[in-house]
Amino acid sequence: MKTFYAEEQKRHDPKAFLSSGAAQPNPEQPERVERLLAGAKAAGCEIVRPRNHGLGPVAAVHTPEYLHFLEHIYARWQRIEGASVEVIPNIHPIARSGSYPASAVGQAGYHMADTACPISGETWQSALWSAWSAVEAAEAVMSGASAAYALCRPPGHHAFADVAGGFCFINNSAVAAQVLRRTASRVAILDVDLHHGNGTQGIFYARPDVLTVSLHADPVRFYPFFWGHADERGEGAGLGYNFNLPLPRKSTDAAFLQALEVAFQRVRAFSPDALVVALGLDAFEGDPFGGLSVTTPGFARIGEAIAKLGLSTVIVQEGGYLCDELGDNLTAFLTGFGSKSR
Ligand SMILES: [Zn+2]
Repeated sequence: MKTFYAEEQKRHDPKAFLSSGAAQPNPEQPERVERLLAGAKAAGCEIVRPRNHGLGPVAAVHTPEYLHFLEHIYARWQRIEGASVEVIPNIHPIARSGSYPASAVGQAGYHMADTACPISGETWQSALWSAWSAVEAAEAVMSGASAAYALCRPPGHHAFADVAGGFCFINNSAVAAQVLRRTASRVAILDVDLHHGNGTQGIFYARPDVLTVSLHADPVRFYPFFWGHADERGEGAGLGYNFNLPLPRKSTDAAFLQALEVAFQRVRAFSPDALVVALGLDAFEGDPFGGLSVTTPGFARIGEAIAKLGLSTVIVQEGGYLCDELGDNLTAFLTGFGSKSR
Protein backbone atom coordinates (compact mmCIF):
# COMPACT_ATOMS: atom_id res chain seq x y z
CA MET A 1 0.00 0.00 0.00
CA LYS A 2 1.21 3.51 -0.73
CA THR A 3 1.68 6.04 2.06
CA PHE A 4 1.49 9.71 1.09
CA TYR A 5 3.50 12.24 3.07
CA ALA A 6 5.47 15.46 2.43
CA GLU A 7 8.34 16.73 4.58
CA GLU A 8 6.68 20.19 4.84
CA GLN A 9 4.05 18.63 7.12
CA LYS A 10 6.64 18.48 9.90
CA ARG A 11 7.32 22.23 10.00
CA HIS A 12 4.22 23.12 11.98
CA ASP A 13 5.57 22.89 15.53
CA PRO A 14 2.97 24.17 18.02
CA LYS A 15 4.32 25.13 21.43
CA ALA A 16 1.33 26.09 23.54
CA PHE A 17 -1.73 24.23 24.76
CA LEU A 18 -4.08 24.85 27.66
CA SER A 19 -5.30 21.75 29.48
CA SER A 20 -7.89 22.45 32.17
CA GLY A 21 -6.60 26.01 32.06
CA ALA A 22 -2.97 25.06 32.68
CA ALA A 23 -0.24 25.74 30.13
CA GLN A 24 1.24 22.46 28.85
CA PRO A 25 3.50 21.50 25.95
CA ASN A 26 1.34 20.93 22.85
CA PRO A 27 0.97 17.14 22.32
CA GLU A 28 0.66 17.41 18.52
CA GLN A 29 4.45 17.24 18.03
CA PRO A 30 6.36 16.85 14.74
CA GLU A 31 7.98 13.78 16.31
CA ARG A 32 4.67 11.97 15.70
CA VAL A 33 5.58 11.91 12.02
CA GLU A 34 8.80 9.93 12.63
CA ARG A 35 6.93 7.31 14.64
CA LEU A 36 4.12 7.05 12.09
CA LEU A 37 6.52 6.86 9.14
CA ALA A 38 8.42 4.05 10.88
CA GLY A 39 5.10 2.32 11.55
CA ALA A 40 4.00 2.58 7.92
CA LYS A 41 7.37 1.29 6.66
CA ALA A 42 7.21 -1.65 9.07
CA ALA A 43 3.82 -2.51 7.55
CA GLY A 44 5.47 -2.69 4.13
CA CYS A 45 4.21 0.66 2.83
CA GLU A 46 6.06 2.64 0.18
CA ILE A 47 6.38 6.35 1.09
CA VAL A 48 5.37 8.66 -1.77
CA ARG A 49 5.48 12.46 -1.85
CA PRO A 50 2.18 14.06 -2.93
CA ARG A 51 2.01 16.77 -5.60
CA ASN A 52 0.87 20.32 -4.98
CA HIS A 53 -2.89 20.20 -5.67
CA GLY A 54 -3.58 23.89 -5.16
CA LEU A 55 -6.46 25.28 -3.15
CA GLY A 56 -9.26 23.63 -5.14
CA PRO A 57 -9.75 20.40 -3.16
CA VAL A 58 -9.43 22.30 0.13
CA ALA A 59 -11.83 25.05 -0.92
CA ALA A 60 -14.36 22.33 -1.77
CA VAL A 61 -14.98 21.82 1.97
CA HIS A 62 -13.79 25.08 3.62
CA THR A 63 -15.06 28.64 3.22
CA PRO A 64 -12.90 31.20 1.37
CA GLU A 65 -13.23 33.51 4.39
CA TYR A 66 -11.64 30.84 6.62
CA LEU A 67 -8.89 29.90 4.15
CA HIS A 68 -7.94 33.57 3.74
CA PHE A 69 -7.78 33.83 7.53
CA LEU A 70 -5.56 30.72 7.85
CA GLU A 71 -3.15 31.94 5.20
CA HIS A 72 -2.71 35.48 6.50
CA ILE A 73 -3.45 35.55 10.22
CA TYR A 74 0.11 34.82 11.35
CA ALA A 75 1.57 37.88 9.54
CA ARG A 76 -1.30 40.06 10.78
CA TRP A 77 -0.80 38.84 14.36
CA GLN A 78 2.88 39.85 14.30
CA ARG A 79 1.83 43.48 13.80
CA ILE A 80 -0.08 43.55 17.11
CA GLU A 81 2.11 45.10 19.79
CA GLY A 82 2.74 42.69 22.66
CA ALA A 83 0.96 39.76 21.00
CA SER A 84 1.99 36.13 21.54
CA VAL A 85 4.35 34.55 19.00
CA GLU A 86 1.73 31.97 17.99
CA VAL A 87 -1.84 32.94 17.15
CA ILE A 88 -4.02 31.84 20.08
CA PRO A 89 -7.56 33.12 20.58
CA ASN A 90 -8.77 34.68 23.82
CA ILE A 91 -12.39 35.53 23.00
CA HIS A 92 -15.08 33.55 21.17
CA PRO A 93 -18.59 34.38 20.00
CA ILE A 94 -21.02 32.42 22.20
CA ALA A 95 -23.42 32.40 19.28
CA ARG A 96 -22.50 33.49 15.77
CA SER A 97 -24.40 36.49 14.53
CA GLY A 98 -24.13 38.07 11.09
CA SER A 99 -21.22 40.24 12.15
CA TYR A 100 -17.61 39.41 11.29
CA PRO A 101 -14.92 41.39 13.06
CA ALA A 102 -12.17 43.14 11.11
CA SER A 103 -9.70 42.69 13.95
CA ALA A 104 -7.17 39.84 13.93
CA VAL A 105 -8.01 39.06 17.58
CA GLY A 106 -11.71 38.97 16.79
CA GLN A 107 -11.25 36.78 13.75
CA ALA A 108 -8.98 34.38 15.69
CA GLY A 109 -11.82 33.90 18.17
CA TYR A 110 -14.31 33.49 15.33
CA HIS A 111 -12.28 30.86 13.44
CA MET A 112 -10.56 28.95 16.28
CA ALA A 113 -12.63 26.79 18.63
CA ASP A 114 -10.02 26.39 21.37
CA THR A 115 -6.39 26.98 22.35
CA ALA A 116 -5.12 23.63 21.04
CA CYS A 117 -4.48 24.83 17.50
CA PRO A 118 -1.92 27.67 17.69
CA ILE A 119 -0.93 29.08 14.31
CA SER A 120 2.73 29.79 13.53
CA GLY A 121 4.45 30.97 10.35
CA GLU A 122 4.67 27.35 9.16
CA THR A 123 1.14 26.20 9.92
CA TRP A 124 -0.57 27.13 6.65
CA GLN A 125 1.95 25.30 4.44
CA SER A 126 2.08 22.25 6.74
CA ALA A 127 -1.71 22.00 6.78
CA LEU A 128 -1.89 22.37 3.00
CA TRP A 129 0.63 19.59 2.40
CA SER A 130 -1.21 17.41 4.90
CA ALA A 131 -4.41 17.94 2.90
CA TRP A 132 -2.57 17.25 -0.36
CA SER A 133 -1.45 13.89 1.07
CA ALA A 134 -5.14 13.11 1.56
CA VAL A 135 -5.96 14.29 -1.98
CA GLU A 136 -3.24 12.10 -3.45
CA ALA A 137 -4.37 9.03 -1.47
CA ALA A 138 -7.94 9.57 -2.69
CA GLU A 139 -6.73 9.92 -6.28
CA ALA A 140 -4.66 6.72 -5.95
CA VAL A 141 -7.81 4.84 -4.94
CA MET A 142 -9.77 6.46 -7.78
CA SER A 143 -7.04 5.25 -10.15
CA GLY A 144 -7.57 1.66 -9.09
CA ALA A 145 -5.64 1.03 -5.86
CA SER A 146 -7.85 -0.85 -3.40
CA ALA A 147 -6.50 1.29 -0.55
CA ALA A 148 -4.03 4.06 0.28
CA TYR A 149 -2.79 5.67 3.48
CA ALA A 150 -2.40 9.43 3.91
CA LEU A 151 -0.02 10.26 6.75
CA CYS A 152 -1.84 13.48 7.53
CA ARG A 153 -0.19 15.69 10.08
CA PRO A 154 -1.40 18.14 11.25
CA PRO A 155 -4.62 16.14 11.68
CA GLY A 156 -8.01 17.36 10.48
CA HIS A 157 -11.20 15.89 11.92
CA HIS A 158 -11.89 18.70 14.44
CA ALA A 159 -11.77 21.35 11.69
CA PHE A 160 -15.18 22.59 10.51
CA ALA A 161 -15.83 24.41 7.24
CA ASP A 162 -14.69 27.67 8.88
CA VAL A 163 -13.28 26.75 12.30
CA ALA A 164 -9.97 25.25 13.46
CA GLY A 165 -9.86 23.28 16.72
CA GLY A 166 -8.21 20.41 18.57
CA PHE A 167 -4.85 20.49 16.70
CA CYS A 168 -6.72 20.60 13.34
CA PHE A 169 -6.83 23.25 10.59
CA ILE A 170 -7.87 21.64 7.29
CA ASN A 171 -10.20 18.65 7.47
CA ASN A 172 -8.16 16.06 5.57
CA SER A 173 -10.77 13.29 5.85
CA ALA A 174 -13.45 15.62 4.46
CA VAL A 175 -11.10 16.70 1.67
CA ALA A 176 -10.47 13.03 0.77
CA ALA A 177 -14.21 12.24 0.82
CA GLN A 178 -15.00 15.20 -1.42
CA VAL A 179 -12.28 14.17 -3.90
CA LEU A 180 -13.71 10.64 -3.96
CA ARG A 181 -17.13 12.14 -4.71
CA ARG A 182 -15.83 13.11 -8.18
CA THR A 183 -16.44 9.49 -9.18
CA ALA A 184 -18.29 7.93 -6.23
CA SER A 185 -22.01 8.61 -5.75
CA ARG A 186 -21.84 7.91 -2.04
CA VAL A 187 -18.86 8.03 0.33
CA ALA A 188 -18.82 6.87 3.96
CA ILE A 189 -16.43 8.28 6.55
CA LEU A 190 -15.72 5.99 9.50
CA ASP A 191 -13.94 7.83 12.31
CA VAL A 192 -12.24 5.58 14.88
CA ASP A 193 -10.26 8.33 16.66
CA LEU A 194 -10.60 8.56 20.46
CA HIS A 195 -12.32 11.93 20.00
CA HIS A 196 -15.53 12.64 18.13
CA GLY A 197 -14.93 13.89 14.58
CA ASN A 198 -16.98 17.03 15.14
CA GLY A 199 -15.55 19.01 12.23
CA THR A 200 -16.23 16.20 9.77
CA GLN A 201 -19.74 15.81 11.13
CA GLY A 202 -20.28 19.56 10.79
CA ILE A 203 -19.09 19.71 7.17
CA PHE A 204 -21.45 16.97 5.99
CA TYR A 205 -24.28 17.41 8.53
CA ALA A 206 -26.89 18.52 5.98
CA ARG A 207 -25.74 16.22 3.15
CA PRO A 208 -27.05 12.76 2.21
CA ASP A 209 -24.17 11.89 -0.14
CA VAL A 210 -21.52 11.49 2.60
CA LEU A 211 -22.34 9.29 5.58
CA THR A 212 -20.42 10.24 8.73
CA VAL A 213 -19.99 7.61 11.46
CA SER A 214 -17.86 8.16 14.55
CA LEU A 215 -16.86 5.90 17.47
CA HIS A 216 -15.35 7.83 20.36
CA ALA A 217 -15.16 8.37 24.12
CA ASP A 218 -18.49 9.71 25.37
CA PRO A 219 -18.31 13.52 25.07
CA VAL A 220 -20.51 14.01 28.11
CA ARG A 221 -17.21 14.17 30.04
CA PHE A 222 -14.64 14.36 27.26
CA TYR A 223 -13.44 16.63 24.43
CA PRO A 224 -15.11 17.94 22.25
CA PHE A 225 -17.99 18.09 24.81
CA PHE A 226 -20.53 19.91 22.60
CA TRP A 227 -20.65 17.35 19.79
CA GLY A 228 -20.57 13.57 19.43
CA HIS A 229 -23.77 12.64 21.25
CA ALA A 230 -25.98 9.84 19.97
CA ASP A 231 -28.92 12.15 19.24
CA GLU A 232 -26.94 14.09 16.57
CA ARG A 233 -28.31 12.44 13.43
CA GLY A 234 -27.90 15.09 10.73
CA GLU A 235 -30.25 17.80 9.57
CA GLY A 236 -32.31 18.71 6.52
CA ALA A 237 -31.45 16.44 3.60
CA GLY A 238 -28.71 14.97 5.80
CA LEU A 239 -31.04 13.73 8.54
CA GLY A 240 -30.21 10.07 9.17
CA TYR A 241 -26.77 10.35 7.54
CA ASN A 242 -24.78 11.02 10.71
CA PHE A 243 -24.27 8.28 13.29
CA ASN A 244 -22.45 8.67 16.61
CA LEU A 245 -21.43 5.81 18.85
CA PRO A 246 -20.18 7.28 22.15
CA LEU A 247 -18.32 4.70 24.26
CA PRO A 248 -17.83 4.59 28.04
CA ARG A 249 -14.38 5.73 29.18
CA LYS A 250 -11.75 3.00 29.27
CA SER A 251 -13.71 0.75 26.91
CA THR A 252 -11.56 -2.23 25.87
CA ASP A 253 -10.99 -4.01 22.55
CA ALA A 254 -14.12 -6.13 22.91
CA ALA A 255 -16.41 -3.14 23.45
CA PHE A 256 -14.76 -1.17 20.63
CA LEU A 257 -15.06 -4.07 18.17
CA GLN A 258 -18.69 -4.60 19.17
CA ALA A 259 -19.47 -0.94 18.48
CA LEU A 260 -17.57 -1.22 15.21
CA GLU A 261 -19.97 -3.96 14.09
CA VAL A 262 -22.89 -1.60 14.79
CA ALA A 263 -21.12 1.07 12.74
CA PHE A 264 -20.66 -1.44 9.89
CA GLN A 265 -24.41 -2.15 9.77
CA ARG A 266 -24.98 1.54 9.08
CA VAL A 267 -22.16 1.71 6.52
CA ARG A 268 -23.47 -1.37 4.67
CA ALA A 269 -27.01 0.00 4.62
CA PHE A 270 -25.64 3.17 2.99
CA SER A 271 -23.98 1.05 0.27
CA PRO A 272 -21.10 3.47 -0.35
CA ASP A 273 -18.85 3.36 -3.40
CA ALA A 274 -15.82 4.27 -1.29
CA LEU A 275 -14.75 4.56 2.35
CA VAL A 276 -12.59 7.05 4.26
CA VAL A 277 -11.22 5.78 7.56
CA ALA A 278 -10.36 8.66 9.90
CA LEU A 279 -7.66 6.72 11.72
CA GLY A 280 -6.91 8.08 15.16
CA LEU A 281 -4.62 5.86 17.23
CA ASP A 282 -5.36 7.72 20.47
CA ALA A 283 -7.96 5.16 21.56
CA PHE A 284 -4.84 3.22 22.64
CA GLU A 285 -4.65 2.24 26.33
CA GLY A 286 -1.22 3.91 26.65
CA ASP A 287 -2.03 7.13 24.76
CA PRO A 288 -1.40 10.28 26.85
CA PHE A 289 -5.10 11.20 26.54
CA GLY A 290 -6.11 7.97 28.29
CA GLY A 291 -9.74 7.95 27.16
CA LEU A 292 -10.18 4.39 25.88
CA SER A 293 -8.28 1.13 26.36
CA VAL A 294 -7.69 -0.35 22.91
CA THR A 295 -4.54 -2.52 22.75
CA THR A 296 -1.96 -2.91 19.98
CA PRO A 297 -3.43 -6.30 18.88
CA GLY A 298 -6.81 -4.54 19.07
CA PHE A 299 -5.76 -2.15 16.29
CA ALA A 300 -4.87 -5.15 14.11
CA ARG A 301 -8.35 -6.56 14.68
CA ILE A 302 -9.93 -3.16 13.90
CA GLY A 303 -7.96 -3.00 10.64
CA GLU A 304 -8.92 -6.55 9.75
CA ALA A 305 -12.60 -5.91 10.47
CA ILE A 306 -12.68 -2.74 8.33
CA ALA A 307 -10.96 -4.53 5.44
CA LYS A 308 -13.78 -7.10 5.45
CA LEU A 309 -16.19 -4.38 4.31
CA GLY A 310 -14.50 -4.89 0.94
CA LEU A 311 -14.62 -1.19 0.00
CA SER A 312 -12.10 0.99 -1.80
CA THR A 313 -10.56 2.72 1.20
CA VAL A 314 -8.60 5.88 1.91
CA ILE A 315 -7.02 5.74 5.36
CA VAL A 316 -6.40 9.24 6.74
CA GLN A 317 -4.26 9.76 9.84
CA GLU A 318 -5.95 11.71 12.62
CA GLY A 319 -4.83 11.66 16.29
CA GLY A 320 -2.53 9.35 18.24
CA TYR A 321 0.08 10.97 20.47
CA LEU A 322 3.61 10.30 21.60
CA CYS A 323 4.01 7.00 23.37
CA ASP A 324 6.40 4.09 22.73
CA GLU A 325 3.76 2.10 20.84
CA LEU A 326 2.49 4.82 18.45
CA GLY A 327 4.34 3.40 15.42
CA ASP A 328 3.52 -0.20 16.42
CA ASN A 329 -0.18 0.65 16.61
CA LEU A 330 -0.10 1.99 13.05
CA THR A 331 1.80 -1.11 11.89
CA ALA A 332 -0.80 -3.29 13.63
CA PHE A 333 -3.73 -1.50 12.01
CA LEU A 334 -2.20 -1.46 8.51
CA THR A 335 -1.04 -5.08 8.73
CA GLY A 336 -4.45 -6.19 9.99
CA PHE A 337 -6.01 -4.27 7.13
CA GLY A 338 -3.79 -6.16 4.69
CA SER A 339 -1.38 -3.40 3.64
CA LYS A 340 1.13 -5.86 2.13
CA SER A 341 -1.31 -7.30 -0.36
CA ARG A 342 -2.70 -3.95 -1.54
ZN1 LIG B 1 -8.17 12.31 18.88
